[in-house]
Amino acid sequence: MEKSYLTKAVVIKRQDYREYDSLVVFYTLDHGKLSLITRGTKREKSKLASHIEPLSVVDLMVIRGKGRDYVGSVVARESYLNLKDNLNNLHWAFSGLSWILRLTEEGEKDDRLFNLLVNYLKALNDTPSSFTKEEGEILFAVFALRMLAIFGYEPQTKSCLSCKHNLQAKDNYFDLLSGGMICEQCFFSSKSYNREQYLKISPEGVKFLRFIFDNNLFLGKKLKISQKIGKEISLLANHFLAFRL
Ligand SMILES: [Zn+2]
Repeated sequence: MEKSYLTKAVVIKRQDYREYDSLVVFYTLDHGKLSLITRGTKREKSKLASHIEPLSVVDLMVIRGKGRDYVGSVVARESYLNLKDNLNNLHWAFSGLSWILRLTEEGEKDDRLFNLLVNYLKALNDTPSSFTKEEGEILFAVFALRMLAIFGYEPQTKSCLSCKHNLQAKDNYFDLLSGGMICEQCFFSSKSYNREQYLKISPEGVKFLRFIFDNNLFLGKKLKISQKIGKEISLLANHFLAFRL
């Protein structure tokens, strides 16, 4: 068995472990989430410590131990200093990290998720100074919806889940439990629906949802959608996430 391996990783979380060490959670390109002991980080002259700040993208060498694997070396490649300077964007970045932490299993890799996370952090780092709180909210919503799609929850946005007809350009309803749209007619004709489970989505909202799932490069582009649609999609993303817990 190989004694060590190299991979790219995002530092998700770092906590103290024993007297001088840290326990660091990484999301790696090749092995998914890894919780690893990093030795000696709390000693004064530790070279590793400055490279394992949450949010940073690093080159990581992992050494296979008899019990736990541990960090052999780590070199920061992207520190996202602009992002770390902006409290509002930091909030959205950490929200993203905490969802990755919650929804992934140790050792389960997915390079789409790794790339999504890196692109998301880069987008938050590269925002113009005019970037607003609301735009941050929308960026997080796009990230969250793409992440859920990677986990297998890409919603049906073309036709009604119930009658299967193509959705018309009027208000439709998003079914948070089944992950897809219900047309107005089916929504009002059913008496058995638990109304808490549905969110009304405007035709523009449905268009934006389709756009999110059809355009992988969208995260880095400037957001140009109305505040109303932004609110609708943020609400949807947050409720849809909550239903996955
Ligand atoms: Zn229908």
